[in-house]
Amino acid sequence: MGEAALPFTAASFDTFVSQKKIMAARCKKCGNLILPPRNMCGKCYGAELEWEEVAGKGKLISFTVIGVGPTPMINEGYNRDNPYCSGVVQLEAGPRICTQILGVDAKHPENIKLNTPLVADFVERGSYSLVPVIANIKKTYLAFRPTE
Ligand SMILES: [Zn+2]
Repeated sequence: MGEAALPFTAASFDTFVSQKKIMAARCKKCGNLILPPRNMCGKCYGAELEWEEVAGKGKLISFTVIGVGPTPMINEGYNRDNPYCSGVVQLEAGPRICTQILGVDAKHPENIKLNTPLVADFVERGSYSLVPVIANIKKTYLAFRPTE
């Protein structure tokens, strides 16, 4: 189990996402589930943690529509005329996570409903670089979309 050795960091979280897994840190002392993972429990300050896979199921509890996003999103074609939805997902496992919400009408946010049931989706997106030789490296991003 090589994954047990990974540090409890956002970089490790990204590594798991590239394997299409949502991994949180579970505090061995108080049972708190920490997502995104950190190397210390925010509840009891315990530092004895273990990785735990979290099911990609939840519901939308808040969202915002973004027209001018970070570079990877601009490169995906998102802009003021083609905005995307970023939302906070309340996971069934307990923690909340902020991701892109796919499959919703970001141009008409009045149609996006709170409490919509969501499932995780893993999106491959080019990690564009100014250096042409490494311009086509793909990175996997966690997103959610409505069930059904
Ligand atoms: Zn704890």
